[in-house]
Amino acid sequence: MDLTDIVADIVAYIAAQEDRGTVASYIPELASVDPAGFGIAIVTADGAMVAGGDADAGFSIQSISKVFALTLALGKAGDQLWERVGREPSGNAFNSIVQLEQERGIPRNPFINAGAIVVSDVNLGGHQPRVAIGEMLRFLRYLTGDDSIAINEAVAASETATGFRNIALANYMRAFGNIHHPVELVLGTYFHQCAIEMNCRQLALAGRFLMLDGRHPDEGRVVSPSRARRINALMLTCGHYDASGDFAFRVGIPGKSGVGGGILAIVPGRASIAVWSPGLNENGNSRLGTLALERLAQRTGWSVFSPAGDSADQ
Ligand code: GLN
Repeated sequence: MDLTDIVADIVAYIAAQEDRGTVASYIPELASVDPAGFGIAIVTADGAMVAGGDADAGFSIQSISKVFALTLALGKAGDQLWERVGREPSGNAFNSIVQLEQERGIPRNPFINAGAIVVSDVNLGGHQPRVAIGEMLRFLRYLTGDDSIAINEAVAASETATGFRNIALANYMRAFGNIHHPVELVLGTYFHQCAIEMNCRQLALAGRFLMLDGRHPDEGRVVSPSRARRINALMLTCGHYDASGDFAFRVGIPGKSGVGGGILAIVPGRASIAVWSPGLNENGNSRLGTLALERLAQRTGWSVFSPAGDSADQ
């Protein structure tokens, strides 16, 4: 199996697709992104990087930031976090409010917006948003070894001005006592973390600790093996909102999507993969990013359900 050939095949396959999905427009600043873009970067366990397409193009990581925010929050709150957020797929849209009333302000999981807003509340920890956001940026720079990672302030401002659903979610949870800081501070943290810009290469590097059972290849342990496995489990079961089952069925590895069109996918012990294509499907996940990962899984045989792990079936 030659990964370089497989990546070239995927880039050509994606370029030939006519239906590129629909770029998110509810955050005005994202609406102007060209739907033609597609990038892919794969870091393997031996440290090799194989990339193709627009792998150097920066994009808004949006909900992919929820993986890194959860990692930080677990470091602060440990298992007590699970008293404030669940671990079940929601079966609802990423920004849905319906379950929150029945479940008394405890969001289903940390990867839907409501759950990530609780995670931001934990990460604030009595500080100002800039402290929590600085910590998140430092974490990503440490994971990637790349100090150029930054926030796109225009995207953050755009979402702050129009994020009415998220404002509603935060206030609603505050009414149940599950948001402890003022909502503006919590949302300031959340919107800025979503507005972090990265390219596929950087994102694949950031995911290495989840491929390596919690270790950074150069810096040592980031989280314990069991924590890395649990984060991967949540990505598999909840990483694509109400399409998480479909993603697990089609791709078969943990993945976390964002409305900027990125997906971070992890093959434990083998690869950390980032894909990006800004057009989304009806569930708000990258249409062609998912298709690319489906093809990659077919071509490599990579799957968390495969006993051999790398036996290509094509
Ligand atoms: N910032 C986005 C929002 O809150 C993140 C959603 C997403 O990427 N699915 O709506």
